Amino acid sequence: MTTVTIIPVLQDNYSYLLESPNHGPTAIIDPGQAGPIELFLDKHKIKLDFILNTHHHGDHVSGNEALKKKYGATILGPEKETSRIPGIDKGLKEGDTFMLGEEKIEILETPGHTSGAICFHLKNSGIVFTGDTLFSLGCGRLFEGTPEQMHKSLQKIAALSDHTLIYCGHEYTKANANFCAHITPDNPALQNRILEINTLRASGKPTLPVDIGTEKATNVFLMAKDSNDFARLRRLKDSF
Ligand code: ZN
Ligand code: FE
Repeated sequence: MTTVTIIPVLQDNYSYLLESPNHGPTAIIDPGQAGPIELFLDKHKIKLDFILNTHHHGDHVSGNEALKKKYGATILGPEKETSRIPGIDKGLKEGDTFMLGEEKIEILETPGHTSGAICFHLKNSGIVFTGDTLFSLGCGRLFEGTPEQMHKSLQKIAALSDHTLIYCGHEYTKANANFCAHITPDNPALQNRILEINTLRASGKPTLPVDIGTEKATNVFLMAKDSNDFARLRRLKDSF
């Protein structure tokens, strides 16, 4: 099974290192900064085969070129954003799959935050990397997409099996929790998750991964009745 290591970069971004068993191929998801990733790889004598980008924003791609140059890694990212992703070798679209060692990685197109944003789904391991589309207890801002697109993208992720673990692009969980608590103050599942979040953050630990079942029970953006309801929530959050 593929192992996932969380590497914090920049202010509150997470990059994720994927390692196949028995020193097989490796990949880094969304290297927003090269330095902390190089430190980790070199300290543990790990090579880097692939760089995977969920979308074109600088805080997710700024490490691309330095890491490609140093390790000779191949860069894969959304086909619809290839012109905006530094150093990209190959674009990926809905339904595309590729193998990382024995692990099959499938592409979900999830536009809304950006026009071409994608998620990486490791179905056999029950893992999804959601970039800035789905956050724990939140979702990305609508920079390039419509509420309809984002609502559909979030529902696509929510349709994965409940035990799927979500690894997203930022540690925004605590601020997001405040908004969810404002909208649904009486949700016991949310209250439990907030206790867990507070404990994790008090000891400096990430609040991720979190499973889809938990998110569906706590994240107000996944509870939106339709795209209008989603648009209303997103507007409220933008000025919260
Ligand atoms: Zn972004
Ligand atoms: Fe971001």
